[in-house]
Amino acid sequence: MAGNSSVVGEVLTFDDVIIVPGKSPVEPRDVELSSRVTRRIWISIPLVSSPMDTVTEWRMALILARLGAVGVIHRNMSVDEQAMQVRRVKESPPSPWYEVAKSTPEEPLSHLDFRLSEIGVGAAVLFEGSEFKGVYVAKGVRGEFWLKKAEAIAALVSSVKPIPSIDEEGRPRVGAAVSPYDVKRAKALEEAGADFLVVDVAHIHNVNALRGLRQLVKDVSIDVVVGNLGTREAVLDVISVAEDVGGLRAGIASGSICTTGEVTGASMPTLTAVMNAFDALKELGAEREVPIIADGGVRNAGDAAKALIAGASSVMVGRMLAGTEEAPGSLVSVGGRLYKQYRGMASRSAIERRHASDRYAGRSKLIEEGVEGLVPYRGSVAEVLLEFAAGLQAALGYAGASNVGEAWKAKLARVTQAGLREIKPHDIVLG
Ligand code: 5GP
Repeated sequence: MAGNSSVVGEVLTFDDVIIVPGKSPVEPRDVELSSRVTRRIWISIPLVSSPMDTVTEWRMALILARLGAVGVIHRNMSVDEQAMQVRRVKESPPSPWYEVAKSTPEEPLSHLDFRLSEIGVGAAVLFEGSEFKGVYVAKGVRGEFWLKKAEAIAALVSSVKPIPSIDEEGRPRVGAAVSPYDVKRAKALEEAGADFLVVDVAHIHNVNALRGLRQLVKDVSIDVVVGNLGTREAVLDVISVAEDVGGLRAGIASGSICTTGEVTGASMPTLTAVMNAFDALKELGAEREVPIIADGGVRNAGDAAKALIAGASSVMVGRMLAGTEEAPGSLVSVGGRLYKQYRGMASRSAIERRHASDRYAGRSKLIEEGVEGLVPYRGSVAEVLLEFAAGLQAALGYAGASNVGEAWKAKLARVTQAGLREIKPHDIVLG
């Protein structure tokens, strides 16, 4: 090796690998997706929404919990406001669908319509116990379009069989983001009922951040997921200050709105970050106790499956959900098409909002590391999430895994640029 041998290896991103097909013991629709999101919390769809101010506020978190995933409320607001958002999720019924279904089928439809309008939803998925019975579209929103949508959702629900993410008292689960230095916020969020905290800094492997983290984990008793990190050494250092860490958030500079890699040259693609974190946990014999959340650049179910095979237990997504109705970003129309605003939390406007809402928010860097943009509007998160989950079932089916735990035994292989071209539709005119 030339120079001072400072090149230490090669990193892989999602498009560098394919999933090696394996012998599948079950049909895709029977693949079990439940997984751990933190040391003590299981969810039925291994997806976590990113704590970003154009992705997760209480509405997003609530619907995700109702559908079996989980959201993390962003911290670009005052402590009181964030605690109120957590409370709003915890105090909502876990599933209006389930509530509605409990009194059907005897209940007259007019009554059902009334109850749906009362809770502000357009359709109900009907269960009897845990058995899926069908989809009921409320009277006000009937029509060809909605019936088609309802049918599509019904098919997805019967495959994915989502179970709401609820705590021991039957309340929806929700996470909340904190800075490693903000013990006051962490305590307020715990008191508001947050199920877990997510430490939200671009690079936790920093002596000051680690010092903050050591104190923070002492002061709260709920699980604390820590990130972001991308190397074995970072995991070992995190665990040395926070032995019972609730989980790790792996991936540096892979986010769709992130410019860190471009501006600073530093990054650790999410796939390799997960592998590095998994190796470090294995060294400690903790890979089955401390779940890894793969964060940044997960575009679809295929990327998520690759992350799970590499050792993650769930994926964190921003862009995938930013275009949905329930995301807080504003809706804009450009040339007759609808879009929603999506921005990095280290973009100029997001930083300005943080300082406006929390004057104590520290600023350790003078450069922007994120951009703002638009993503196509995609309607309700229910469809996006259920399609993702059905896609993940299919991907794990190909991998030969009947559940997320078995995904760790599946294999990835390097693919060439030519192979990557062949995977995508080619040699046709797209209709
Ligand atoms: P996406 O799912 O859109 O590809 O990535 C979302 C992730 O990008 C977030 O969970 C977070 O880790 C990361 N992220 C969010 N905002 C910023 C930012 O402004 N700069 C950088 N470097 N990363 C960001």
